[in-house]
Amino acid sequence: MDLNDTPEQASHRQEVRAWLERHGEDAPPRTGSYEDSAYVDARRAWQRRLAEAGLAGVTWPEGYGGRGLGPMGQVTVNQEISRAQVPGILDVIGIGMLGPSLITHGSEAQKSRYLGPMLHGDEVWCQLFSEPAAGSDLAAVQTRARLGEDGTWTLNGQKVWTTNAQFASYGLLLARTDADVPKHKGLTMFIVPMDAAGVTIRGLRQISGEAEFNEFFCDDATLTEDSVVGGVGNGWGTALTVLMFERLTIGFGSEGFGSSAQLAASLAADPSARADTDVRLRLGEIVTELLAVRFNGYRALTTLAKGQIPGPEAGLAKVTTVNAAIGAGELIADVLGPEALGADLQWSYLISFLPGLKSAGGTEAILRNTIGERVLGLPPEPRLDKGVPFSELRAKEREAVA
Ligand SMILES: Cc1cc2nc3c(=O)[nH]c(=O)nc-3n(C[C@H](O)[C@H](O)[C@H](O)COP(=O)(O)OP(=O)(O)OC[C@H]3O[C@@H](n4cnc5c(N)ncnc54)[C@H](O)[C@@H]3O)c2cc1C
Repeated sequence: MDLNDTPEQASHRQEVRAWLERHGEDAPPRTGSYEDSAYVDARRAWQRRLAEAGLAGVTWPEGYGGRGLGPMGQVTVNQEISRAQVPGILDVIGIGMLGPSLITHGSEAQKSRYLGPMLHGDEVWCQLFSEPAAGSDLAAVQTRARLGEDGTWTLNGQKVWTTNAQFASYGLLLARTDADVPKHKGLTMFIVPMDAAGVTIRGLRQISGEAEFNEFFCDDATLTEDSVVGGVGNGWGTALTVLMFERLTIGFGSEGFGSSAQLAASLAADPSARADTDVRLRLGEIVTELLAVRFNGYRALTTLAKGQIPGPEAGLAKVTTVNAAIGAGELIADVLGPEALGADLQWSYLISFLPGLKSAGGTEAILRNTIGERVLGLPPEPRLDKGVPFSELRAKEREAVA
């Protein structure tokens, strides 16, 4: 493992650092409410500045406005943005996951229409995958798209947990277009304008007080023929590409959320906490976990530096970081007490927001299953739905229960 920059990486880092030193003071605050349109607009404008400086879409091909660098280029930009204590791009889902998937599966017309405004923050995108009965089992989506004789599609159904839908211009939506084939086969991916007739967005307010994600309903919404991404019936393949980019976008190689140094400093400021063996033990466990994440992150970085994609074991970083950060929040709550938390927005937000991250981007149980099967070689989960047409699955499930 060699964590030193190559000469090219060092010069890229120097360029990024110099730009951030020159322009960092124009950046909006790193945190703010996504329900405040002035804050969202400031973040859009900052994303435009980052894009124009080559600090957004770092891995996108130059032909689509990107910087054409490998994943290490992205890691360098992330590290420098975090060092400069400025916010990164607003549309992480669009630029990190949906844009690269459009580049892989979209038509040339779709790429030239959508990628530029996405990169510059003029049109934010959202991911319309999860449904009330299709989360971990994503291929069970029931939102239906029916092809009309005039070539247009009629969309009906519901999505849930859609981050940023409240200000997104477009969504990438996974729908069922054929219920008479096995569930992974009858799916198609669509581009949906969020202001289409028949589309309703409703915010979901979380315990943190924010409404960062939404419910999405479509009632006879009409989509044009050219809304299909990657071909009719190929939606599962396109969805897997999005999920692969999602794994690289969230929780990758970072110590994230509960910085151990910050936590230790908060606790050390309290003399009775400092002397309490139980507090010291819990703090030690949290710091050890976060250190393990950091060193595993170095392994993943080394894989990237060699031009390879890290395997499913990289998913462990998310599980461990989130659990350690939840442990940190609980420890802080026990030591400082609820009154102190009310005044300290950073900790109260952390404590109320983190449990949700156990589900985002794949739940802990699913990530552990994947690691069990694909890294440790344990027996796979039973798959009763294999080869069964989607329309017959309910009957098959009833048979299995009986
Ligand atoms: C902060 C946040 C942002 C999100 N943003 C988006 C978004 O923008 N777009 C989008 O489409 N979705 C989004 N999601 C949804 C997310 O993808 C789902 O929450 C996730 O896929 C899990 O699905 P579910 O919530 O329906 O839980 P379920 O799949 O119903 O799981 C419920 C419980 O059962 C367990 N479980 C399920 N299957 C198994 C199994 N086979 N073995 C063992 N245990 C199992 C799970 O681990 C979990 O504990 C977001 C979620 C969060 C929390």
